[in-house]
Amino acid sequence: MGSLNGKTALVTGGSRGIGRATAERLAREGALVAVHYGRNGTAAQETVAAVRAAGGAAFAVRAELGVRGDVETLWSEFDRLVLDHDDRSGLDILVNNAGITPRGQIEETTPESFEEAFAVNVRAPFFLVQQGLKRLRDGGRIINVSSGATRIALTDIIAYSMTKGAVDTFTLTLAKALGSRGITVNSVAPGIVDTDMNAAWLRGNEEAERSAAELSALGRVGRPEDVADVVAFLASDDARWVTGQVVDATGGSQL
Ligand code: NDP
Repeated sequence: MGSLNGKTALVTGGSRGIGRATAERLAREGALVAVHYGRNGTAAQETVAAVRAAGGAAFAVRAELGVRGDVETLWSEFDRLVLDHDDRSGLDILVNNAGITPRGQIEETTPESFEEAFAVNVRAPFFLVQQGLKRLRDGGRIINVSSGATRIALTDIIAYSMTKGAVDTFTLTLAKALGSRGITVNSVAPGIVDTDMNAAWLRGNEEAERSAAELSALGRVGRPEDVADVVAFLASDDARWVTGQVVDATGGSQL
């Protein structure tokens, strides 16, 4: 019996990278998983197929975040589709994982890229939670994917790092607000993980891979599963007494 049997989870950005590994892991624990995505429907269907091939249950939910009506679209799709897979509506675990990483020093950051980063990484999870509260059952879990960049100063992703600082403050304050309902709220902060997000500068570039690995005390680049396992812990009953925290999952980067 899985630790999440009978639970329903929504993983934003669950189609690729850390989100996909999280969706697969939560499903392995027995949760029905809504795999959210924005544009790449093929990747979402591949993730759903992988979950089902492993004996789990999942369905894909499309909604582009950071645009007008994004959260309303996501929840109405979720509400419609969840009833095809479960006889009750609502959910137990919300993983706010979808995010974008605009690169640029302060001099290179435009108002447009700044606003887009905040729209996707901050505004969308905020209002997803706000409008999801009536769906989230008491005793539930909210897990926000943050970044080690709130602890380590990385000047070439300054606006992105600020979005994740906002996410951590959201986590802290929301944990207090929802505690009376037995809902825990935590952030997970990954370091450099080998996903599409980093493909352009990391993959196939031995020098970049070596220096990225050296940042971690454990001497390698992170894998999506390294982060997914921490999310799964926070989603489980074992983490019932942990709330309002930022859990570092950077493999001890820049200790
Ligand atoms: P990927 O780029 O590999 O995947 C991003 C996922 O988010 C995809 O499922 C994508 O769906 C979805 N997504 C992105 N933008 C939107 C949007 N506007 N609307 C809807 N869906 C969207 O990302 P990672 O797995 O690398 O990152 C996941 C999270 O982890 C992010 O919050 C990121 O900031 C954080 N993180 C990542 C690190 C890393 O090194 N990879 C380090 C620290 C934090 P689709 O393809 O359909 O658009």
